[in-house]
Amino acid sequence: MKRLKVIQDPNPILRKRAMPVALPLSEEDSNLLRALLDYVHKSQDKTYAEKYNIREGIGLAAPQVGISKRLTAISYQRGEVKTEYMLANPVIVSQSVKQIALSSGEGCLSVPIEHPGYVYRANKITVKAFDLIQNKDILIQAEGFDAIVLQHEIDHLNGRLFYDYLDKIDPFKEKTNATLL
Ligand code: ZN
Repeated sequence: MKRLKVIQDPNPILRKRAMPVALPLSEEDSNLLRALLDYVHKSQDKTYAEKYNIREGIGLAAPQVGISKRLTAISYQRGEVKTEYMLANPVIVSQSVKQIALSSGEGCLSVPIEHPGYVYRANKITVKAFDLIQNKDILIQAEGFDAIVLQHEIDHLNGRLFYDYLDKIDPFKEKTNATLL
């Protein structure tokens, strides 16, 4: 598998709306999803990440490697629970009014500069997608951290980056209908 290069903001590809992929997935698109997941896994391997000077990530979307397709891979462990997806054409079909933000703010493998502040997102979402890991169409009901990660990745498919959401005047502004995680 050839090593992927993660493109960096302000590359205009990161701001494009990505194209849907055909289902069933082509071999090319399946391989790209596998490569995205492989990159996320390797980024979490300290020895590998140091050797190739890459940052640790928990998700990577195709536009981040310069391919404008609606594909993203996610992998992380929280306590005992491992969450892993290889999604094609994910769509948020419903979302809560209640919001949530990470108290530490968000980061992104494609954004080299830190942008401190609260990135408010829906606290609960339902996502429809094809998942290559389960090899079928799935509905994901996600809340809290899981919902944040999915929204961050789906944003990449719509040309949006996390810092777009920051309050320009007061990035640490607290909201009444939102909680901090
Ligand atoms: Zn990102």
